[in-house]
Amino acid sequence: MLNDDDLNRYSRQVIIPNFDEEGQKNLLKTKCLIVGAGGLGCPVALYASAAGFGHIEIYDQDVIEISNLNRQIAHKNDHIGNNKAENLVQECLKLNPNISILSKKNIFDETTDISNFDLIFDCSDNPETKYILNYLSHKCKKILIFGSAVQMEGQLAIWKSGLNKDLPCYECVFPKSNEKPPISNCREAGIIGPVTGLIGSMQVNEAIKEIALKDYQSSAGNLFLYDGLTLNIDKIKLVKNQHCPVCSK
Ligand SMILES: [Zn+2]
Repeated sequence: MLNDDDLNRYSRQVIIPNFDEEGQKNLLKTKCLIVGAGGLGCPVALYASAAGFGHIEIYDQDVIEISNLNRQIAHKNDHIGNNKAENLVQECLKLNPNISILSKKNIFDETTDISNFDLIFDCSDNPETKYILNYLSHKCKKILIFGSAVQMEGQLAIWKSGLNKDLPCYECVFPKSNEKPPISNCREAGIIGPVTGLIGSMQVNEAIKEIALKDYQSSAGNLFLYDGLTLNIDKIKLVKNQHCPVCSK
């Protein structure tokens, strides 16, 4: 049974068909890892906290700079110089003090133990971390919810290759290459805040579907491309790479 405070707090989502109290209980039991407390991590952590994901851990070693504030919406002017993960945790607790939420200032790398989590949010901004998250999530059979945004474009995908051998992983679709990749980070290429806000919101939308809804259609196996200039969202059906070094064995 949910207590009275939780029933009130989550009442507007619990009344949705296929959600119900059971869905809320499932959210409250879920352990989420959020890697990155920036443009994607801020909306992801705020919406995940508000929805009542009961256990959240946020990784980021960076400190808040003034140039982050056009998009990293939980961080405020008087937070400049603070660690991003610590600050985001404090802002999430103001929104929902009933959840358990922790920050980690360590580097997230392949030695990080993700076995205790149910769901991983990739809110990182570099390919190295995305490959590590993909490898660990596949190996430990976790749901990985990937987001990425640059300039006025965003990408979203749900990776479940460890849970279903027919589904592709991140590296099937974005194989490692020795060629220098095109500039794709916000520092060099630029980004507008609403694009990260939208993609981050969609990441939590998908997480709620995966954890709380009965009779839902998973978006795993597709890549969604958002274009902020035309407002188009393209849905691309993905195929598994039968020679993928991560998920084909
Ligand atoms: Zn793969």
